[in-house]
Amino acid sequence: MSAVTGRYAPSPSGRMHLGNLCCCLLAWLSAKSKGGRVVLRIEDLDTMRCPRSFADLLESDLAWLGISADEGGSAGGAHGPYYQSERSAIYQHYYDILDRRGLVYPCFCSRSQLHAADAPHRSDGQVVYPGTCRDLTPEQIAARARPRPPAWRVRVPDEEIAFMDGHLGPYRENLAQDCGDFYLRRADGVFAYQLAVVVDDALMGVTEVVRGADLLSSTPRQLWLYGELGLKAPEFIHMPLLLASDGRRLSKRDGDVSLETLKARYTPEEIIGRLGYLCGLQSAPDPRTPAELADGFSWDRVPQEDILLPDGLF
Ligand code: GLU
Repeated sequence: MSAVTGRYAPSPSGRMHLGNLCCCLLAWLSAKSKGGRVVLRIEDLDTMRCPRSFADLLESDLAWLGISADEGGSAGGAHGPYYQSERSAIYQHYYDILDRRGLVYPCFCSRSQLHAADAPHRSDGQVVYPGTCRDLTPEQIAARARPRPPAWRVRVPDEEIAFMDGHLGPYRENLAQDCGDFYLRRADGVFAYQLAVVVDDALMGVTEVVRGADLLSSTPRQLWLYGELGLKAPEFIHMPLLLASDGRRLSKRDGDVSLETLKARYTPEEIIGRLGYLCGLQSAPDPRTPAELADGFSWDRVPQEDILLPDGLF
């Protein structure tokens, strides 16, 4: 087995756009340039938003581009299933470990309560949970559970978690002050991303996580979960986000940069070459194969700041 195992962990709620694709490409390049391999895990916890048809399209798009995963997705493998929607029993096992330690509690706060104007916010705009439901008595819990079922949070310690990001450098966060107790499970029983991603990356033998910088601030929470669950954490490498030329986040609704449009207009090498140029891996947007870009790939060449998609490149 090779030393580096990278992964793609897309949530296929639509056709891939250039940002998703760029993330898959850099994950592939990073792993392959070290002689490693890549696992595909479909993050379809929200089954309504992520139908299987989008996951299938994503796999055929990756194959067309020449950056298919070596394990997972519909092809399966030794660590399956690779669809989060089929892994609830596994998440339950790890959830129960935290629950038995008294770390899990029900939260009855509504969305509007949580997002009240005076709620403390972190720098990325997310709400720091003030602990409203942390110390409810059994009687209060019983009374509140009747109108509607609760979601479930995990108690975090007043502790700083620091790590060295493989691309962005040192990052630290105090869990209690900067984040607060976070969700492990939604009111409808679906397990939360933060728990699922930790369990899956660990059980699938992932050693290197490449993903967008928008998830940098999730990493301290995840590292803490790795520790609590006795699982081995991978290296984290956060990459710049690809933004539209006006600075907007790309979204799956931006039809102009979806794979559907790109496929009709370009060859795979033209798309890969242009992305390689955007990511600093070559000096001109010339056509390239993924293997050509992997040769000489280094994170030092990739910018740390978000990348603006120049008008007319695609
Ligand atoms: N499923 C997440 C997404 O598509 C990525 C999660 C991760 O890479 O940890 O944005």
